[in-house]
Amino acid sequence: MNRREFLKVSAALGAATTVPTMLGGCATRPLPGSGDVTATPTVCNMCFWQCAGTLYQEDGRPWKLVGNPDDPHCDGRLCTRGTGGIGAYDDRDRLRQPLLRVDDGGGQRFEAVGWDEAFDFIAKRMNAIGEQYGKDRLALLSHGDGGKHFQRLLQAFGSHAYAHPSFAQCRGPRATAFGLTFGEGVGSPDRTDMAHSRCIVLIGSHIGENLHNSQVQTFTRALDKGATVITVDPRFSVAAAKSQHWLPIKPGTDIALLLAWTNVLINEGLYDRHYVARYCSGLDKLVDHVQPYNPEWAYLETGIEPAVIRETARLMAANAPATLVHPGRHTTWYGDDTQRCRAIAILNALLGSWGRPGGFYAQEKVELPPYPAPEPPKPQQDWKAVLQGDYPLVGSGISNRLVERSIGDDAFIKGWFVYATNLPMTLPGATDQIKAAAESLELMVVVDTMPAEITGFADVVLPECTYLERYDDLRNKPERTPTLALRMPAFEPRHQSRPAWWMARQLASHLGLDAYFPYEDYTEVLDWQLKQVGSSLTEMQRVGVKRFPRKTPLYFEDGRDIEFNTPSGKIELWSSLLAGTGQDPLPRYTRPDRPPPGFYHLNYGRAPAHTFGRTINNPQLFELMPENNIWVHPSAAAVHGIVSGDYVLLENPEGKRSNRVRVRVTERIRPDSIFIVHGFGHSDARQRLAHGVGADDAALMHNVKIDPVTGSTGMRASFVRPVKEGVG
Ligand code: SF4
Repeated sequence: MNRREFLKVSAALGAATTVPTMLGGCATRPLPGSGDVTATPTVCNMCFWQCAGTLYQEDGRPWKLVGNPDDPHCDGRLCTRGTGGIGAYDDRDRLRQPLLRVDDGGGQRFEAVGWDEAFDFIAKRMNAIGEQYGKDRLALLSHGDGGKHFQRLLQAFGSHAYAHPSFAQCRGPRATAFGLTFGEGVGSPDRTDMAHSRCIVLIGSHIGENLHNSQVQTFTRALDKGATVITVDPRFSVAAAKSQHWLPIKPGTDIALLLAWTNVLINEGLYDRHYVARYCSGLDKLVDHVQPYNPEWAYLETGIEPAVIRETARLMAANAPATLVHPGRHTTWYGDDTQRCRAIAILNALLGSWGRPGGFYAQEKVELPPYPAPEPPKPQQDWKAVLQGDYPLVGSGISNRLVERSIGDDAFIKGWFVYATNLPMTLPGATDQIKAAAESLELMVVVDTMPAEITGFADVVLPECTYLERYDDLRNKPERTPTLALRMPAFEPRHQSRPAWWMARQLASHLGLDAYFPYEDYTEVLDWQLKQVGSSLTEMQRVGVKRFPRKTPLYFEDGRDIEFNTPSGKIELWSSLLAGTGQDPLPRYTRPDRPPPGFYHLNYGRAPAHTFGRTINNPQLFELMPENNIWVHPSAAAVHGIVSGDYVLLENPEGKRSNRVRVRVTERIRPDSIFIVHGFGHSDARQRLAHGVGADDAALMHNVKIDPVTGSTGMRASFVRPVKEGVG
């Protein structure tokens, strides 16, 4: 028996009993809103965009969620997933009490325990790790608001290592590339000024299916005003359908197109000479670098006609600086992703759109002081140097690297806290590695609202309450208008679930670290912070959102010199930091792998009804989209003898197969590609709706390409083929 055998959270635990709602005879139901209605401010947690809204209850029951009209993240409207927040609260499959893995001699299982017993167990294991290996051997893997409480707990203990998969599996190359070029990143929400754009270029960014609320709203505003949209995508996405130009590019060749566009802007003298001369460095090197990459060369790589490349480059220039070459969000594709994002950043610089209306605005946040508390002790070692010293330009933890460094007896990391991230469906093709890490680790604590694949590997599972049942930190994001927003409980936590701040606070007591958490209730922290900026918890409980005046200009001011946060103080077309670390200082094209005969590029994306795998089991959202399907071109469908509505398995070249998944035959995808919405194919039976429906793309990924600059995982270099059920 393995030390940590993968377990589904025991069926005996927390089995929900549902009582069917009986409508009494033919009695007329009262109209919604005619009962006793109360309103509670909240901040949506159905994705990371963090829109502020209001939860309405009627007669003590949840009624509806609506957007807060004062909030710039949502402008008064929540997206489909946001309105489904009540489904997360109501989910019958929620984790209900702390669970502890026990070895009963013949096997392993989870048993329900009280909070004190769970905390005692964790504290004992943490102290044992600290004594045997050192206090810096724990790590946090986290996605979401509550993770910071566990980060503080681990830092107070002496462990500073952390990683958010949202870096190495998503936005890392973009953040790094824009940082290298402009000295700062794009932020979240993105600083894109689309409402004022006259030309928008989308490269693999499927806005509309990817429902980042205010971004979609500003995109539609630009469309209403007649903006030109150029969409580069192997798939005819919703955004492509709104575009003047759809460029169905060969997968993996985006850098070739970007270099060709740069070639045209430079050789036809279409770039913003005044802006480049004033703010940029490295133009001479860029001019030389792009000479070989003309549209005729790019045609052979990308399949995009030279005339189309020239026409679209001229359109960008004609509308500059109100041309936005969108930086995208999920940018970990082919392993050369920092270079691709650099090429996008350079195009924006040549068009003069950084800091200009219709391009990228300057972000600002509220200067909110941290709550007074002791500084955590300095770590014994520099964990970044130990774990990821070969990526010197990366300031964040690299989750896949952290997993690698947790495997084996001599692994540096000995314990994990996993907060709200289902690693087996997040890290590509990494389930075996996660299993191996779990085997080696001496402690794994998983904190979440729902059971998921990762909870099966845990020693201890801690049930968090949903965002409608808790306070979290004030939302204070860098954005167009500095704004604070409050999330507060509308309901008491269900079952024995508790907020993250409470768990971290209690665990600190069990570890003798109370001094680092000098409050009994998180409302003390929030109220203190709000009073420092002229507000109060009482005011925020009433208004939910409060705007503050800007102190800095939204755009570059004419005639003002700017010092960029780069080594040269300029926008670096040629990156001195990349050159200094042995990387290409200018974007270089690498020809991508092509699928073996009979296989197709695996292209994946999002749908408006779901946020990754986290919402599939949500009863409201499941009803809207209960399974994913695969998009297959008619010519490929004919080869495999499949038609729309058939169920097939997806198989990768290593023979790994997916769950059965439905086929959609459509000309809206290139013949060499298959598209699938990410997040389906859950294997944990405790998610009773999500279990077994649809296919999991992450599990099929086999040709993961590591970006040499950021260490992030290129996830679009995998191949699959459809296989009829029962064949092979
Ligand atoms: Fe919620 Fe949608 Fe806003 Fe995300 S974009 S925070 S899901 S309303």
